[in-house]
Amino acid sequence: TPRVFSGIQPSGGLTLGNYLGAIKRFVSMQEEDYETVFCMVDLHAITAKFLDPKTLAHNTRELAAGFIASGIDPAKSILINQSQVPEHAQLAWIFNCVARMGWMGRMTQWKDKAGKNAEAASLGLFAYPALMAADILIYHATHVPVGDDQKQHLELTRDIAAKFNHDYGVDFFPITEPVIEGAATRVMSLRDGSKKMSKSDPSDASRINMTDDADAIAKKIRKAKTDPDALPSEVAGLEGRPDARNLVNIYAALNEQSVEEVLRDVGGQQFGTFKPALAELAVSKLAPISTEMARLMAEPDEIDRILKKGSEQAREITAPILKKTYEIVGMVG
Ligand code: ATP
Ligand code: MG
Repeated sequence: TPRVFSGIQPSGGLTLGNYLGAIKRFVSMQEEDYETVFCMVDLHAITAKFLDPKTLAHNTRELAAGFIASGIDPAKSILINQSQVPEHAQLAWIFNCVARMGWMGRMTQWKDKAGKNAEAASLGLFAYPALMAADILIYHATHVPVGDDQKQHLELTRDIAAKFNHDYGVDFFPITEPVIEGAATRVMSLRDGSKKMSKSDPSDASRINMTDDADAIAKKIRKAKTDPDALPSEVAGLEGRPDARNLVNIYAALNEQSVEEVLRDVGGQQFGTFKPALAELAVSKLAPISTEMARLMAEPDEIDRILKKGSEQAREITAPILKKTYEIVGMVG
């Protein structure tokens, strides 16, 4: 069976972007004919800025709770924390020696996150995509569901696999397929329709957190940036209106409708009417998840037990693939 791998960083709390762009698809792929591995990528979470240890541990458990509360079933999917499956980091070293500096320097995430002062960025942030390639390829995963922002990293993963196979004259690592689907592959900031919604954005008003209560969700949507025009009844009418488009996309993804269907219903409405409806829809979908997350967070030992079992299952896959990689590379002993 084809194998799916994907991960989320415990760099902050889960956002609506993570839920609509990634987790919802993880859950549907779990129910399809795939073997599924989902990961809290804690090694990635320490690349961008210093996270104090308590926060990292809290974020990791909360993320695990978010996965499970959203429908990832540890009986159907392998659920792990990256650092606990050491083959990820071990394969990443090999890939650091396959990937080229020039490839890494072209990554837009590197450029965005390093900002103007790249000299002060961590070496880990620069190497991030090689570790991501290792996360995927240590499972020989064939399908990777992600948001649109990860497309370039997945192309790099294919380049790394192809160069490794070519350099060593083997057909060992698969060329993986990105799975980027749905109305919300790129949920934008509520404050700026040209910027992606991110859990690490300094402005809390820019995003909806999975743990926000009904009042906070309603307030953030009410204050979301929009233009003064009414909603159009056709998609073409959203052209040049990124903030309006974003709210319609979110509505469509939450309600599992196409953007066309949503506009057929809400076309002509003012935002003063549409925003409360969107808030109500968001609360109705997110409240059951956040309630379940809170319940799970009250039992951290249970979360740790699930992750420990996941690591054991994962290593049955990753240990033989790393061993074979070392053999191919010529590492003896
Ligand atoms: P950070 O700001 O720390 O990078 P993030 O919110 O971007 O956090 P990641 O852990 O980097 O979250 O990404 C996890 C998954 O969520 C990836 O598949 C990514 O493509 C997806 N994702 C992140 N933000 C969005 C978004 N705004 N819309 C759709 N998908 C998203
Ligand atoms: Mg990100």
